[in-house]
Amino acid sequence: MARAIVRGISVSTGFAIGKAVFVNRRHRSEVPRQSIQPAMVDAEEARLRLAFASVQGDLATARDRIPPELKEHQHILDSHLMILKDPKLAGAAVKFIRELLVNAEWALEKAVAELEKAFGALDDLYIRERLQDVRVMSDRVLTRLLGVAQDPLAFEGRVIIMAHDLTPADTVTLEVAKIMGFATAQGGKTSHTGIMARTLGIPALVGSAELEDLVNDGDLVILDGVGGRILVDPDEDELTEFNELAAQFEDYQRRIYRGCQLPAETIDGYRVQVLANIELLEEVAAVLDNGGEGIGLYRTEYSYLNRTDLPGEDELAEKYSDLAAIMSPRKVIFRTLDLGADKFISSFGHLEEANPAMGLRAIRFCMKHPELFKTQLKAIARASAYGNVSIMFPMISGLREVRRAKAKLREAQDELRAEGKRFNPDMPVGIMIELPAAVMIANLLAEEVDFFSIGTNDLIQYSVGIDRTNPHVSYLYQPLHPAILRSIKHVVDAAHQAGIEASLCGEVASDPFCVPILMGMQVDCISLSPQAIPGIKRIIRQARMGECKALLREVLACRTVGKINRLVRDTIFNKYPEELTFFASLLDNDDLGG
Ligand code: PEP
Ligand code: MG
Repeated sequence: MARAIVRGISVSTGFAIGKAVFVNRRHRSEVPRQSIQPAMVDAEEARLRLAFASVQGDLATARDRIPPELKEHQHILDSHLMILKDPKLAGAAVKFIRELLVNAEWALEKAVAELEKAFGALDDLYIRERLQDVRVMSDRVLTRLLGVAQDPLAFEGRVIIMAHDLTPADTVTLEVAKIMGFATAQGGKTSHTGIMARTLGIPALVGSAELEDLVNDGDLVILDGVGGRILVDPDEDELTEFNELAAQFEDYQRRIYRGCQLPAETIDGYRVQVLANIELLEEVAAVLDNGGEGIGLYRTEYSYLNRTDLPGEDELAEKYSDLAAIMSPRKVIFRTLDLGADKFISSFGHLEEANPAMGLRAIRFCMKHPELFKTQLKAIARASAYGNVSIMFPMISGLREVRRAKAKLREAQDELRAEGKRFNPDMPVGIMIELPAAVMIANLLAEEVDFFSIGTNDLIQYSVGIDRTNPHVSYLYQPLHPAILRSIKHVVDAAHQAGIEASLCGEVASDPFCVPILMGMQVDCISLSPQAIPGIKRIIRQARMGECKALLREVLACRTVGKINRLVRDTIFNKYPEELTFFASLLDNDDLGG
């Protein structure tokens, strides 16, 4: 028997067996203050300086070993190294050790807090960027001092990453080839951490509350991304069992992969477009390999993360145009920046917002920073000359907002015209439907745009009132809640009445329990992570539209989510037993919510 079993929310399916390595374990608020004797001051200073030197050493090694595909991130490491070498930060911490007779961790934390207090309120972009970098570096030194973490850039061999939390920015910098899977104490079903794991095709758990108590650095663990658990120090029988399961899983993946280039058409001839969600351009190969018929959601903000400067129009236009040209004649939908909530760029620092998910996010953030927005709009418009490009705006809440966003796009296009640059003046413009307000006025919004894309991750978050990154309320994430189903249907019907396309790009689009119901609603297009495409296409190819519509009718007649979940589970399990063997569903805890 394993020494311990740690439960979590599975956000990416599969199995991994290997060594657990923590990249972060504690909150900053847990930095202990300890008094030290005057005689210990020198030793404490030496400990601090050693931690600085050791992080510096790790970064320098990482910088030398940086693989060609990550070369563009090298400047981040350079600016971080500069901070570590600058004597001011360490000097300030040493001063506190000596004057206040405190431990190195607390002294460093205080030195950073003072800097933030002194300069944090200044409205100077450069200073805010530097402060952000200082925070990142001091956190790294702190974890070294606390003796709780290894540098994620410095693993030997492949590992399973454990963390208190991984932000999207952290995830992008991890060395992907070395990571077999990951688990975090924080996070909910549709937090961006999970989305990244699915993109990388590695198993992952989030919201694993006991992780930090029960798993030690270096433990051998089995990460069961199907059952949503981690087995710590498994015995021989468990290792044999999971090695077999992992082999079966690989075999299943190979089988579904074979048919993935076939069209997503039901037995009775109903066709749905299956597009891909991507975060980084590097994923294009995976999209095509897995049978993606285009890109239904390019989360453009990811290429703004982990850099201290902002990309310029030419840089973006080149990247976007390459993507459009490679995918042509297939569709590429560029979503304009969805920053804020859990994704920040260092150039703008962290805004102190009590409820960031309901704060200056997405289109609101872009409207507040019109120059940043215009740069991106011009780049997307320029890419439209090279392929089948559409644009969409996230988090639209009303008519005025969409009209203002469209006016900004026109402004950008006028500038391009004046500059003699090419673009497609008829580029389709869509919006994401992610707010209940947008659902209610879908018929009005439909008159303004060429298509809708329903973002269920946020629509569920805002409809049910659950922070999508909060594991405590994750059980209320219920895609088949009657309110959510009615919302989606309402939006699809409004789109069709207005003669525009209705697409859906939330995680619901990769759930075999939900897809037949979406088909019953006659969603035109679904967009999902590339790795999930083969399995979902197979489900569609075995379905009949008549059955999907009948299931939808039955589901809409149910009054509780529990009843819907049971009905859908039974129906789908009966129809697709093989598809569901290795599937970690979004539907669980069905008796708790709605
Ligand atoms: C959504 O909200 O469903 C969506 C697809 O967008 P994101 O997950 O990037 O917020
Ligand atoms: Mg969203």
